[in-house]
Amino acid sequence: MKVLKCRPGFLWCLVFALVLAAIPRNRELTTESFPLPTSPADQLPRTEVVEDTIQRNTTLVATLVDYKIPVAVANELADLIKPVFDVRKLRSGNPFRLEKEIDGTLKAFEYKIDDESVLKVEKEADSYAAKVDKLDLQMHEATLTTEIRTSLWEALAANQPKGEYLVTELVNMYQWEVDFSTEIQPGDQIRLIVEEFSHDGKFVKWGKIRGAELVNEGHLYRAFLFRDSYYDEKGVALKRAMLASPLKFNPRISSGFTSRRMHPILGTARPHLATDYAAPTGAPVVAVANGTVTFAGWNAGYGNLVQIKHANGLTSGYAHLSHIGAGVHAGRGIKQGDLVGLVGQTGLATGPHLHFMMASKGTPINPVPTLKKGEPAPPIQGSAKAEFAKQIAPMQLELEAALASN
Ligand SMILES: [Zn+2]
Repeated sequence: MKVLKCRPGFLWCLVFALVLAAIPRNRELTTESFPLPTSPADQLPRTEVVEDTIQRNTTLVATLVDYKIPVAVANELADLIKPVFDVRKLRSGNPFRLEKEIDGTLKAFEYKIDDESVLKVEKEADSYAAKVDKLDLQMHEATLTTEIRTSLWEALAANQPKGEYLVTELVNMYQWEVDFSTEIQPGDQIRLIVEEFSHDGKFVKWGKIRGAELVNEGHLYRAFLFRDSYYDEKGVALKRAMLASPLKFNPRISSGFTSRRMHPILGTARPHLATDYAAPTGAPVVAVANGTVTFAGWNAGYGNLVQIKHANGLTSGYAHLSHIGAGVHAGRGIKQGDLVGLVGQTGLATGPHLHFMMASKGTPINPVPTLKKGEPAPPIQGSAKAEFAKQIAPMQLELEAALASN
């Protein structure tokens, strides 16, 4: 794991806060004076700068008044700020900076809203102007290496600032290759080449993962970002479409997805939230995408049923099977194209067919358009190939070096 950043700034804040608590109100803490150039400028008013952090349970106006800004001016500023920043969102502990003329006139006020933006109020001729500026962030490429001990979460999120972002990105990148909920093992290795944004040397956020390597059960999976998609070293897109259908041979749809239709056996109007594929008994039924089996067994009218959970909250269900595939058990991982079972007519079925269901976050969806969606990026071809090779070369070297030093 990358060496964690020591945060001396945090300690200083703590010391600062303690000192602060010991000092009576209306104090001015860090008061710096900038001596402006001498010569004719000797008469120029000197500027006083105060830096502090927002106290608990206070308001912007109270904070300014605390620093001897007249109430009228403080209220004027609060009104001025309203259109650009909601002053009720002032957070205790966030730093601010006041700049005053020596006669006490407020010259400028700055408040750090969050890691990426700062509120700025500046004195103009006879009024003030307020705006929110985005901080200038510096980007550099960081390489993170970690080994799975208990979970992906523990390996990445627990040891990195904003590590949950890295976990989500990684799971999305590799969703077609690896089911992180079932397949990740202690000892698996992860290496990421990721954009890291900082401001004044302090971490702000992660950007895109540009390159990654996962060693899962001895298999090496590499991924490289190119034109917003991830590819392996050969330029093949990682993202795979779901299979066009759960049957190997061009199936005929005998009954489509509808919210109302007459049930052939029950004779009543019932929604058919599935696609029926006409197929002979014994025809192989396969998983449309990688996932984890959540149910495999008898389920009333569905007869022999297999349900699979996929990435992104999608599930698929395969009903009326004559047989469930060997090794298809709840909790087991399953790969796209793996045998789920064989077509049959178990449960409530008038003849052999596959009753195929899909749901998104528990809501039934029409399987046919769903299977058509999510096409992978086309393989890299032609002139893009040279560009791709050039772009990934330094990352390949870095990953190789990291692997060799292990
Ligand atoms: Zn059906």
